[in-house]
Amino acid sequence: MATNILVADQETHFFGDVCKNFDHAAQFTKHDAGLLDQIKSCNSVYRFRFPIRRGNGFEVIDAWRVEHSHHQSPTKGGIRYSEMVNEDEVMALAALMTYKCAIVNVPFGGAKGGIKINPKNYTVSELENITRRYTVELIKKNFIGPSIDVPAPDYGSGEREMSWIADTYATMNPGQLDAMGAVTGKPIALHGIAGRREATGRGVAIATRECVSVGEDMQKLGLLPGLSGKRVIVQGLGNVGYYSAKFLSELGAIIVGLCEFEGAIYNENGLDIEAVFQHRKATGSILGYAGATQEFSNTMEGLEQPCDILVPAALENQITVDNIRNIQAKIIVEGANGPTSPEAEEIFYANGGIIVPDMYANAGGVTVSYFEWLKNLSHVAFGRMNRRFEENSNLNLVNMVEGITGVALTPMQRSTIIKGASELELVNSGLEDTMIRSYHEIREIYKSNPAIGTLRNAAMVGAINKIAVSYQNLGIWP
Ligand code: NAD
Repeated sequence: MATNILVADQETHFFGDVCKNFDHAAQFTKHDAGLLDQIKSCNSVYRFRFPIRRGNGFEVIDAWRVEHSHHQSPTKGGIRYSEMVNEDEVMALAALMTYKCAIVNVPFGGAKGGIKINPKNYTVSELENITRRYTVELIKKNFIGPSIDVPAPDYGSGEREMSWIADTYATMNPGQLDAMGAVTGKPIALHGIAGRREATGRGVAIATRECVSVGEDMQKLGLLPGLSGKRVIVQGLGNVGYYSAKFLSELGAIIVGLCEFEGAIYNENGLDIEAVFQHRKATGSILGYAGATQEFSNTMEGLEQPCDILVPAALENQITVDNIRNIQAKIIVEGANGPTSPEAEEIFYANGGIIVPDMYANAGGVTVSYFEWLKNLSHVAFGRMNRRFEENSNLNLVNMVEGITGVALTPMQRSTIIKGASELELVNSGLEDTMIRSYHEIREIYKSNPAIGTLRNAAMVGAINKIAVSYQNLGIWP
């Protein structure tokens, strides 16, 4: 049974589920109970309400910011704009951020924010008021700052909201040199970084590729190694889902199914992501897309169609005991946070499946947010100082090799070898390296002890060990 926590008259269990995963993994570590308790608990939970003007009156908005762990500073995590958001969910997501950062070696503690609204019900100017007021409330309580707590986008928020936060923070902190490092996921024109928008989805695609690259694991699933030809269903065509689908198909997978809240579509020969995306933009729905051979008005049916890999990239709690036995995929790669319940995971593994856990699979976003934060603190774009130098060095080398061998390269070969790395190439390279290394680190822990049982437990064991070392090094004061 999941631990149920009563929050504001609402019974929820997401944080309980995360704690349950933690407790299970903690058995495979050697830390004392007090230290484990410190790691697991949410350090600071700030719940607040503020008014905004609406029509002729005003409306009171519920909001949260949770800093789960201060073993590293700043803390880091997105802000969710959703009418479903609640304290339990924000605590769970903040905790996941702590473990996620540890897994991919990003030196941040975990945090998360929530604003209880459906953004679709507000005008742009109302959303701006809400976002700016939310930021001011965080400033008043010292819950935001480049060395304190750094928000980012999450479900329902994006670059536009991050711009408003950056501008509000900078305005309220005149002269603060590093003010732009107070929030990540900003547009490139406002001190953002190339590749951040697509980073989470790119990371999901790389995580999937690493998982299916291991012949021994694929053999157990009855699959051939490699992404080429693997049939994938993606749930959610938002930031994470869209880019996951796009990069997975670029890496050779076939996107056979797409699920959105209005329904799902399927074609065993593959769907054209871009065409579906444009169709949805034009009509407001993925249903009616001409390239689909099947349509489901109940979106959950879409998850249960034939495929090798399922990528839930919309919301938590989508795969539960109610539908896990109908899922035909052998691999679930969690693009969203918390899409699979612990009970469903147990059943899936018992039936021979494997789950690439959210804490690792969707860590591409925070990894590139870390790069953006570094860029903001150093006040220079990656590659700016060394690109020309690199190109000149490469040019000298190519000229020398051509001179010695007497073989002239084609103009195409010359330009490919000579070209220095752009910011986007450096970001993507850093992201790819992080995702590859972390997968194999997790898998090694998984293989080291069969009792660990799941990649999620293995990822959690690794995270707990790293966080424990940080806390031990810090000591306790006073
Ligand atoms: P988003 O708002 O851009 O997209 C979410 C999409 O899911 C929307 O298109 C929405 O219509 C769809 N959706 C909502 N309910 C659905 C349902 N019941 N069935 C099918 N589709 C549904 O949000 P996002 O940023 O892509 O975040 C998605 C998930 O990924 C969240 O769990 C978030 O916490 C997680 N995540 C996001 C990032 C990031 O960088 N954006 C990073 C890590 C994790």
